[in-house]
Amino acid sequence: MSAYKVAVLPGDGIGQEVTVQSRRVLEAAGGRFGVAFRFTEALCGGAACDAVGEPLPRETLDLCRASDAGLFGAVGGPKWDGLPKEKRPEQAILGLRKSLNLFANLRPAVMFGPLVDASSLKPEVVRGLDLLVVREGVGDIYFGQPRGIERLPDGNERAVDTMVYTTPEIRRILKVGFELARVRRKRVCSVDKENVLDNSRLWRRVATGVGREYPDVELSHMYVDNAAMQLIRNPLHFDVIVTGNMFGDILSDAASMLTGSIGMLASANLNETGFGLYEPVHGTAPDIMGQDKANPIAAVMSTAMLCRYTLKRADMADAIEAAVARALEEGYRTPDIFTPGTKRVGCKEMGDRIVQCVGGSK
Ligand code: NAD
Repeated sequence: MSAYKVAVLPGDGIGQEVTVQSRRVLEAAGGRFGVAFRFTEALCGGAACDAVGEPLPRETLDLCRASDAGLFGAVGGPKWDGLPKEKRPEQAILGLRKSLNLFANLRPAVMFGPLVDASSLKPEVVRGLDLLVVREGVGDIYFGQPRGIERLPDGNERAVDTMVYTTPEIRRILKVGFELARVRRKRVCSVDKENVLDNSRLWRRVATGVGREYPDVELSHMYVDNAAMQLIRNPLHFDVIVTGNMFGDILSDAASMLTGSIGMLASANLNETGFGLYEPVHGTAPDIMGQDKANPIAAVMSTAMLCRYTLKRADMADAIEAAVARALEEGYRTPDIFTPGTKRVGCKEMGDRIVQCVGGSK
């Protein structure tokens, strides 16, 4: 049996802790379904800065290029905050996205029934929530040129960032959104700022054209400011949201809090070859690192996405998601989602229980 090659990039802080658990869960799912994995660990982020002086070593990038998928933890922390921008740990994830052309960033926000009281919104607003933000990941104002800060003759400074999208870039991310909507509730909401930005005028025109190719999927358009409001007011309205890099960054973080904790949110970064880098949405959480308090569910749910999108094994993905649901139904809670009457556990014990449930243990 040939093994899937998985690059494991735990990074820093709780990235290390949650990745241990997500890898165990993936192995357990593989054991149950007869799928073999070959895991290879590599340095990235602050750990790589310390070891070799740069956040994304060549070997790490080469390993990803030679792998079917990657499991990424999180990078960064106060220890490296003083480094120049290009040497900061956060460059690792930006570099991976750009070098591997990971243009499609998928961020689902799903409410597990037992956690409905952990959300900051009323239960009736979030019960049954299941939306997917499809964020473009390699373009927009985060990568456009020119950019920079310059000193003006009068002594003041001037900063420039450039928002850029081409028709093919918009088209390919919209197509990802429509394809995913087809196997969900068949609704795409394209988010832009068409009333102000030329970029968004092009975005909306292309989105409308792509929409004609998917007559079975309902397309709507929404301004980003309204989308931010509707996410809080009536999140159940949404199925698939497709948007650019910056709007998606902000909206997906807002969507993440609907589910109760950022420790629940998984994400996928996909390119056109089928390679995917799977990661929790959260960062390295320096405030709780090393204390066995991190919620591993975001990282575990990212392995379900790996099974679904890279391996095309919906059965394995369903089994991992069901194992998480079962652990929550049994009352297992890390501190971030703890409510009185439930069982407070650490990162490792939550991982242990999910591994048992994936493996089919009672
Ligand atoms: P963060 O996501 O690390 O933490 C925000 C808050 O959420 C903290 O209170 C933290 O304890 C809590 N939290 C996060 N994940 C959790 C989990 N799994 N379980 C329980 N609680 C959790 O964001 P931050 O504090 O703004 O950033 C800390 C560092 O992480 C910074 O250096 C930042 O640059 C980096 N960061 C990295 C990534 C990434 O690697 N993709 C993403 C965001 C932030």
